[in-house]
Amino acid sequence: MPGDSATAVVLADGSRLEADVVVVRIGGRPDLCWLADTGLDLTDGVRCDASGRVLGLDGVWALGDMASWADAETGVRHRFEHWASTSDQAGVVARAIVGAEAPPSSVPYVWSDQFGLKIQMIGRPDLGHSVEQLQGEGLAGGPIKGTVVGYFAADELVGVAGFGAPRHIMRYRAPLLGRAARAEVRALAAAIASP
Ligand SMILES: Cc1cc2nc3c(=O)[nH]c(=O)nc-3n(C[C@H](O)[C@H](O)[C@H](O)COP(=O)(O)OP(=O)(O)OC[C@H]3O[C@@H](n4cnc5c(N)ncnc54)[C@H](O)[C@@H]3O)c2cc1C
Repeated sequence: MPGDSATAVVLADGSRLEADVVVVRIGGRPDLCWLADTGLDLTDGVRCDASGRVLGLDGVWALGDMASWADAETGVRHRFEHWASTSDQAGVVARAIVGAEAPPSSVPYVWSDQFGLKIQMIGRPDLGHSVEQLQGEGLAGGPIKGTVVGYFAADELVGVAGFGAPRHIMRYRAPLLGRAARAEVRALAAAIASP
């Protein structure tokens, strides 16, 4: 259980790990049993191309939590489980259905309010190999509110997360779209810190 009272975690095999702090990660799995007789591969959601077309089923599109879209650049499949990505996908699917040009690629965006703190993420933090503090002092043990961190794959910015920092987070949208280099991102962070 999270909270001040945590002292240990007991694992399924009965072993016990002493712990001062416990972070609980809760995930979801789409219930696709109603599609079981379609012959579709439902290993991790309904497999789609980069426009939401269901692979193996002509004239059908899927989006949202249950859909596993191929990334337009890399082809890697991913299920996005957030409000903003679902509505972004709706725009892509609607255009694909009527044969219109795809909308310009957008930067994935997620937000959530947790215990009075607005958490915002843009880009793909999951692709990062390293994380660096851009604003605030949260990573160094200071206050979490006002902290912005950047996620880098090698030298390129791939994601940004903000904690109680709504004024700053969107400043990193353009650098993310351009996969800006670390030095450029640091320069922007310094400019934001001393306007
Ligand atoms: C507790 C919780 C907190 C969340 N918090 C956040 C957050 O803070 N920020 C964020 O970005 N995202 C959050 N999410 C995720 C977000 O809610 C989902 O990513 C988003 O709602 C996905 O939209 P969707 O249309 O794919 O699915 P849903 O919103 O789940 O809509 C699917 C609909 O289909 C209906 N349905 C299901 N099966 C059938 C059937 N067989 N026949 C007919 N209808 C059916 C369901 O009743 C539902 O109305 C949260 C999710 C949960 C569960």
